[in-house]
Amino acid sequence: MTSPELDLDHKNLHRDEAETRATLVTVSDYDVTVDLSRAENLDEDTYPVATVIRFDCHVPGTTTFLDSLHAEVHRVVLNGKELPLETAVGAARILLPRLQEHNEVRIESASYFSTSGEGMHRFRDPGDGRVYLYTQYEPADARRVFPNFEQPDLKARFTFHLKGREDWVLASNQDEMSHTIHEGVATVDFAATPPQSTYITTLLAGPYRQWTDRWDGHPQSGADPINLRIFARDSLAEHVDTEEIFAITRSGLDFFHDLFGVAYPWGKYDQAFVPEYNLGAMENPGLVTFTEHYIPTSQATEAQRQARATTIMHEMAHMWFGDLVTMRWWDDLWLKESFADYMGTLAVDRATRFEGAWATFAHRRKAWAYVQDQYSTTHPIVADITDLEAARQNFDGITYAKGASVLKQLVAHVGEDAFNAASRIYFERYRWGNASLDDFLAVLSETSGRPMQDWSRVWLQAAGVTHLSWSEDGTGAVVHQQNPDPRGGEAPQRPHTFRVGRYELDDEGALTRTAQHGYELTVGAAAQPITEVDISAATDRVILLNDDDLSYAVVHLDEDSLAAVLKHPLADPLASATVWASLWNAVRDGRMPAERYLEGVVAVSDELHDVGLHAGVLRQSVTALHRYLPAERRAEWAQRWGAVLLSSLTELGDGSDRQRSAVRTLTLLARGSGVLLDEMEQLASTAREQGWVSAPGLRVDDEVRWAALIALAAQGRVDQARLDTELEVKVDAMTRVWHRTAVSSQPIATVRDAAWHAVLTGIDAEGQTLSNDLLSATAEGVTASRPELISGFEPEFWSSLEKIWTRRSIGIATRTIEGLFPGYHDAEADGVAVAEEHPVVVAGQSWLDEHSQAAHTLRRVIIEELEDLRRAVHAQLMERGASTPAG
Ligand SMILES: [Zn+2]
Repeated sequence: MTSPELDLDHKNLHRDEAETRATLVTVSDYDVTVDLSRAENLDEDTYPVATVIRFDCHVPGTTTFLDSLHAEVHRVVLNGKELPLETAVGAARILLPRLQEHNEVRIESASYFSTSGEGMHRFRDPGDGRVYLYTQYEPADARRVFPNFEQPDLKARFTFHLKGREDWVLASNQDEMSHTIHEGVATVDFAATPPQSTYITTLLAGPYRQWTDRWDGHPQSGADPINLRIFARDSLAEHVDTEEIFAITRSGLDFFHDLFGVAYPWGKYDQAFVPEYNLGAMENPGLVTFTEHYIPTSQATEAQRQARATTIMHEMAHMWFGDLVTMRWWDDLWLKESFADYMGTLAVDRATRFEGAWATFAHRRKAWAYVQDQYSTTHPIVADITDLEAARQNFDGITYAKGASVLKQLVAHVGEDAFNAASRIYFERYRWGNASLDDFLAVLSETSGRPMQDWSRVWLQAAGVTHLSWSEDGTGAVVHQQNPDPRGGEAPQRPHTFRVGRYELDDEGALTRTAQHGYELTVGAAAQPITEVDISAATDRVILLNDDDLSYAVVHLDEDSLAAVLKHPLADPLASATVWASLWNAVRDGRMPAERYLEGVVAVSDELHDVGLHAGVLRQSVTALHRYLPAERRAEWAQRWGAVLLSSLTELGDGSDRQRSAVRTLTLLARGSGVLLDEMEQLASTAREQGWVSAPGLRVDDEVRWAALIALAAQGRVDQARLDTELEVKVDAMTRVWHRTAVSSQPIATVRDAAWHAVLTGIDAEGQTLSNDLLSATAEGVTASRPELISGFEPEFWSSLEKIWTRRSIGIATRTIEGLFPGYHDAEADGVAVAEEHPVVVAGQSWLDEHSQAAHTLRRVIIEELEDLRRAVHAQLMERGASTPAG
């Protein structure tokens, strides 16, 4: 920047600042030494860091800045001259004045350890007391560890040196070049990285357990064999199924080499499972980090293992999409996330033992997109991201799930060969560099022979989800599309490549496809005749638009189809997932009463044989019951649905995954509605690893016991002493989190008061800062039952919002506000006739009206919470015919 008024305290880097900086400098390399040798001492808040950066400046004499956050800078030496700290160093930036053509800056600093999962996270294992560290940076938290040019288009080579205890694992993106030990402290020098962005650099340190394997390489694309490693905390070692993780990793490397034909460019491939992780995983080249929830300590279902496989593949796809070729700025975040999301599912479908990857995608991943794309805060897939805060908020259902859904449609539109050929050219043309939307569209046009600008304009650069429905005209059926833009008005009509299926009841009692026809809604067309489809009435027939789930659309079912799918299962897992996604959208949109949906769940759920779909539908049944059903019908429905589930346990299969999902659902019904408490008591007091009287094959492990204990605590059936005793049986990262939820869920006014304020301030009763996981666990307890115990805190909630947002990191602030949002109110209890009269809607709307200048990112969180609440209240009122349709 050349501006003399550069604000060195400003941590929210703007796009135009980044653009200017990119025209001024080319960064050559970093040399960074991070000393974690005293990290085990929790009284130490900081660790020493020494950074050397070499870079060229294209306009000598000018001034620019480095990003540096949450650190104490002790010394800055630019081109041999020491800079005065008072004027050169602010809270978020370091000024670099009067640059030469070739520059070297040396910085000595002390960076703070983090407990929020951002920067250098430090975790003490509550079981064995050992200390573990890892880094997490995206989009811009490398600056919390070492000063740098924090923007994705200023790539450089990084050489890291890491110090830690001699018996620790010390790892980074590249292999170690030397390892020396002096007085119990190891120093590891790592090889320089190829050119990469700051947000995917990484460090790992601690007494992690390590497993090794090898991948044989891929001669056709010139890929050499590489070493594979897995890291996890020592206390998780017995639960790490290394064989499966390595097998998926090797299959993925084979698959992506076959597909892309470009050799894996980062050397080794490590995967670390780390504690208190804020997201699923992060694609640091050569060292991917994952949440350790992917190493379950209790029984995991096949659906959970499939989800882990999908994440492994997603991160691996990033080694090319994102790491090798990187978006220039966060506007094009989708360029890596949508691709990785699509490729992750494709790889699981094609290259692993898991079946039903696209069914899971249709039902779960797309549900995330539909929710996000119906908020008034939605945005096009290609977003307008003006600064880092906005970037951080865009790791959302649009960027990932809608983007991937639209790519699935794109593949149907241009063909898989053209799409894959475009990927190959894209990697070859832009490797080690950056690219934008136009670059990708250009290669796609080359390989498909089609102009892509119109397609991009309506799919990538317009917001909102398409609704597809059909009606009869004189000659047959016609499909209609509608594209409401939740921000106002209509989005443009979209081309859709789609199929229509007809299903009829077979001898086994399932709905089976009897015909399928393919169609194209062309650009600009609102309707498409589908005269080939037989729409004639039959007992229990279904007409399914978007059969095979090729397009991204909310599908409406006609009344006959609706009646059929609420009575009978569909034989095909993907069709079944498409139908249940349609049903869920109808409930959320207020087009179908929650009660009718629940009747369908009761009738059909036992016949949903896909484990992931079964679990997903059961989870949604709890939301339907606790949020969308009128309050006065909940107790009766919880009793009825609970009894049905309980009696189905044996039939679902002893120890089976579906039985597991059913038990999880029972504990949630008990927690929220107070039913089946005797059963919960039985579960909680069943001896470890023994079967349960109601389902002899069920493994009553830590997860099940604690889910039952949380339900009992939320209903006031166990006290603190009992919960503490249960924790003493086994203390680990998970039981500590469950215990925290159980304790704060007790329906005792003083307990809720303390827990509510602990979340609000981020500090618990013992004066400890709550880590990211413990903060969320406490909030989950606070809102578990009896909302009247916390409704008195609402005024304080509204008046604290801005303080929370400015004083805490955006990640922790979002957890806090979402965790405490008073969205649990019922229409009935509040005696309202329309959603807009609801007291929390009124309070929230007036907060928004009075705070039009508040951070747009904060406003976005509040707007989305309020819209969820409006939907819930509207659905509750709809069953009494007392409301108008939701906006
Ligand atoms: Zn990703």
